[in-house]
Amino acid sequence: MLERGEVANSWRRERWDSLRLLTPNWLSRLPGHHYEGPDPDGYMTMGEVTEFIEHFARDSRAPVRTGVNVTSVRRIDDGYQMMTSHGEIRCRAVVIASGACNLPSVPQFKAAVPASIEQLTPFDYRDPTKLPDGGVLVVGASATGVQLAAELQRSGRPVTLSVGEHLRLPRTYHGRDVLWWMDASGVWDQRYDEVDDLTRARRLPSPQLVGTPERATLDLNALALTGVELVGRWAAVRDGRALFSGGLRNKLSLADLKMRRLLDTFDEWARTHGLGAEVDPGERFAPTRVPDSNRLQLDLRSGEIRAIVWATGFRPDYGWLDVPVIDEKGQLRHEGGVVDSPGLYALGLPVLRRRKSTFIYGIEDDAREVIDHLTRYLAADPQSAALCSSTTRTLL
Ligand SMILES: Cc1cc2nc3c(=O)[nH]c(=O)nc-3n(C[C@H](O)[C@H](O)[C@H](O)COP(=O)(O)OP(=O)(O)OC[C@H]3O[C@@H](n4cnc5c(N)ncnc54)[C@H](O)[C@@H]3O)c2cc1C
Repeated sequence: MLERGEVANSWRRERWDSLRLLTPNWLSRLPGHHYEGPDPDGYMTMGEVTEFIEHFARDSRAPVRTGVNVTSVRRIDDGYQMMTSHGEIRCRAVVIASGACNLPSVPQFKAAVPASIEQLTPFDYRDPTKLPDGGVLVVGASATGVQLAAELQRSGRPVTLSVGEHLRLPRTYHGRDVLWWMDASGVWDQRYDEVDDLTRARRLPSPQLVGTPERATLDLNALALTGVELVGRWAAVRDGRALFSGGLRNKLSLADLKMRRLLDTFDEWARTHGLGAEVDPGERFAPTRVPDSNRLQLDLRSGEIRAIVWATGFRPDYGWLDVPVIDEKGQLRHEGGVVDSPGLYALGLPVLRRRKSTFIYGIEDDAREVIDHLTRYLAADPQSAALCSSTTRTLL
C-alpha cells in the first residue's frame, strides 16, 4: 500500500481546523474497528479521525509504505508498471484508492475576479483569522459551504452565501441522528446498479450537515437567522460584477421537496418495521424561507467583499494514471470498482457500489466485493502478486 504522505493524509493536510465528521461516531467505522469512547453519538474532530485511522492501520497490520508518491501507472504486457518517488514497481493488479477529493473544483470564472479579493478553497482555509476583515462570499451551500459560512459569520464578518443545488437534511429526525435513518432504512444500501441515474447520484452534493456537540441543524434557515445573506447560484463575472442566478426560490423549494420525500421514506420504513409509534405523527420542518429580495449581482470592485471561499466541491486527481480509463469529466470509468482495464480496480469513490460508498463506513462492503473480483482475476495466474496503490484505509 503506497501513500505519498502519512497514514490519514487527507484528514491531516486537507481539512480546516474546526471540522468534525458529519457522520456520528458509531457510524464512522472501519472493518473490525469501531469507536469505543464515551460519546457514540458525537462527531470526531480531525485529530480523532487521524488517530482512529492510524489505529486501524496498526491493528490491521496494513503494509503501508508512507512517503511514496505514485507518479505514473501504465499498462504493460502482464500487468502494470508503476513509477514512484522511490523507484519502479511492477505488478499484476492495482487498486486505485487515491480518493475522490484530491483537488478543489472551482469554476473557470474565478480568473475574472478582481485581484483585490482574496480567494480560498477549503484546502487553503484553516480558520477565520487567516481571512482579511470585511465581507466574505462563500460559494456553494453543501456541507463545506454551510459550515464555513456559519463559522465566518460567527467571526463577525458579513457573509453572503451563493446557493446552487443542495441537499437539505435535519440533523436529527424523531430524536435520532438523520444518518441513523439513512442507514437503518436501507437508503444508503441501495446498490449502484439499482440507482436510476447513476451519473447524477455520483455527482450529488454532500448533505447540509455539521457535526456539533449540540447536534444542531445547519440548514439555510438556521444560517439566515444568524444574518447570512442568501443569493442564487453564481453564474458568471461580467465587468467586475458577480452575476447570480434568479432561480434561488426554485432551488430552495426543490431541496425542501426532496427532504420531505426522504423523510416520508423513513416514516414508511418505520411503519413497516414496527416503529410506527415513533413516527406518528410525522415530524415536519418549516420550508426554507426565501429572502425578501435576493440580489442578482454584486459589485466585486466595491470593497464589500474582501474574500471569496470556493466551497464548490472537489474532484479526483488522476494526473499520474497513464491508462485510458478517464472520462471527459475527469472521472474514472468503472463498473462498481472494476475498471475497464484488466487487473485495475478502484475503491473509495462516491456510490462506487452503494450509496454509502461515499462515506468512511461504506468501504467495508465495497472492498469485500471488489477484492473478491480481484482475487478471482489473480487466481487465473497463481504466480501473480497484487499491489494496492495509495491508500490509508483499504483492506487487503
Ligand atoms: C471535507 C470532507 C469531509 C468529509 N466528511 C466525511 C464524514 O464526516 N464522514 C465520512 O464518512 N466521510 C466523510 N468524507 C468522505 C471521506 O473523506 C471519504 O469517504 C474517505 O476519506 C475516503 O477514503 P480514501 O482512503 O478512499 O480516500 P482519501 O482519504 O482521500 O485518501 C487517499 C489517499 O491517497 C493518497 N494519494 C493520492 N494520490 C496518490 C499518489 N499519486 N501516490 C500516493 N498516494 C496518493 C492521498 O495522500 C491520501 O492519503 C469527507 C470528505 C471531505 C472531502
